Parts: sequence; structure tokens; C-alpha cells
Amino acid sequence: MSFDGLPPLREVIDRHELRAKKALGQNFLLDLNLTGKIARTAGDLTRATVIEVGPGPGGLTRALLAHGARKIVAIEKDERCLAALEEISQHYPGRLEVLPGDALKTDFPRLAVPGEPVRIVANLPYNVGTELLVRWLTEKEWPPFYQSMTLMFQREVAQRIVAEPGSGAYGRLGVLAGWRTNARIAFDVPPQAFTPPPKVTSSVVHLVPRAEPLAADVGKLGKITEAAFGQRRKMLRQSLKGLGGETLLEKVGIDPTRRAETLSIEEFVRLANEA
Ligand code: SAM
Repeated sequence: MSFDGLPPLREVIDRHELRAKKALGQNFLLDLNLTGKIARTAGDLTRATVIEVGPGPGGLTRALLAHGARKIVAIEKDERCLAALEEISQHYPGRLEVLPGDALKTDFPRLAVPGEPVRIVANLPYNVGTELLVRWLTEKEWPPFYQSMTLMFQREVAQRIVAEPGSGAYGRLGVLAGWRTNARIAFDVPPQAFTPPPKVTSSVVHLVPRAEPLAADVGKLGKITEAAFGQRRKMLRQSLKGLGGETLLEKVGIDPTRRAETLSIEEFVRLANEA
């Protein structure tokens, strides 16, 4: 037996023959200290609906439930994991709902119950995680359907999410995250904490939506940052040529010889609002 009265995770993985599949980015977290730490980082779960993406054999799911998650809705693409998740669901009646399917095709705002806080928690393959994060950051409705996001990324990606202007890691991801949230790296996770171990160190990022982000059209902000950072070594008058170039920059009072990574988020917003 384990801390929660369920069989140890290794036994669950063996019994259900859940050999990790590379194509699904499966690196399972079996370390209870770490899954517990992620659950604590996510904040108060006792009144929240937790949306967990990619529960796999359920290690993090079990930590979230043990830390009092009122209700978890978990989306898992790998059908092999469903029987193991069903065992957890029976152990915590009414608290875990598993939706088999692809998170990239999921309508997340519809999973929220009006008036109840939602916290998103996930240890996902990195490409899926980045794509979902960008979607969640660019939600049309703001404040958005979630109260926080606690997500695992490769450390290099985590550093891009929390990057400040002037740093080499600052780019489109940092502008979007900083525009709409307060984001911080909560802690790093070494490769050997996972089964099988990935090649690089990972980090857990915690993001809380800003109540009132600077007003900007999401589409325009995306286009400006994409063009500016697409040629990050060039001066802005060159990289933004197709979007108004020097005229636009002068209109909003930004020196056209500056480069993208020197611009603050407020300056990007000004450009998006004039473009
Ligand atoms: N949460 C578990 C843990 O921490 O041990 C598993 C993490 S593993 C890195 C990623 C999980 O996401 C796997 O269970 C995988 O099957 C699932 N997954 C991968 N792509 C997915 C997608 N597009 N939609 C939903 N789940 C996905």
C-alpha cells in the first residue's frame, strides 16, 4: 500500500503494462515528494475544479487528490492508462472524472463550472504544453476561465516564459505570458525524477492571470511579436517593415533602431494598438 491506500505507482505501471511511449512524450513522475510539491504549488485545491492534462498512470493525480482537490477533470490521450485511472476514481468517489481524448482538441472553458474556481495542472510533453499555454494565454474572455496554471516544462522553455526584457530568453512567449499573467518558476526537477528520464532538466512554472492586463488585440500583439522576434538581431524598422515599419515606430515614440528584445511589454502593446 501507498500513502493514499492505493497500490504503489510502480506496481500500477507494471500491472497495466504502461511502458512509456516516446511518441506521447511519456516521462512519468513517481517521486511522491515531487508530485506533492507540485500539488502544493497549485494552491488551495479544496474549493477548486482542477483540470489535469495528461494524467498518465495517475501519480500527480493522486497527489492532487491527497492534497484535497475537490474535483479533478483529467484529459488523457493514451487509452492504456484509463484502467489505472478508473481505480483512482473508485478510490475517491465523485472526485475524479477522466475524459479520454486529445487535449489539443478539448474546449477547456466549457469544462469550468460557472462560479467555481479552476486550476490547471499538467505534466505534459513539451510541444503540447507550449501550444496549450499559448492558447490559454490568448483566451478572448478575460479574466479567463482559470485561476492559475501550474505546468511542467523543459527548463529552457520555462526560462523563456518568465523572461524579462533585455535577456536572451525574452521572446514571443515571454511577452504573452508577461502581458496576461504573473509567471514564476516554482522549482526545477532533475531528469532522474522521471521514468524514463528525459535528456534535460525540467521546471514547474506557476502562472496567475493579471486581473487587468494592458488592453491589446491578441491577434495584433501576436503578429507584432512574431515579426519582431522572427528577426531578433535586426533593428525594428527592418523586422517590422511589413507592419508599418519606421512610420509605426515613430508614431508610438519608439526608436526604430532598437531591437526586439529591448522592448518592454507595454511598448509591444503600444505597437499592437497602433498597427
Ligand atoms: N501526469 C503523469 C505524470 O506526471 O507522471 C504523466 C506525464 S507524461 C510527461 C505526459 C502525459 O500526457 C502522458 O500520460 C501522455 O499520454 C499524455 N498526453 C500526451 N499528449 C497528450 C494530448 N495531446 N492530450 C492529452 N494527453 C496527452
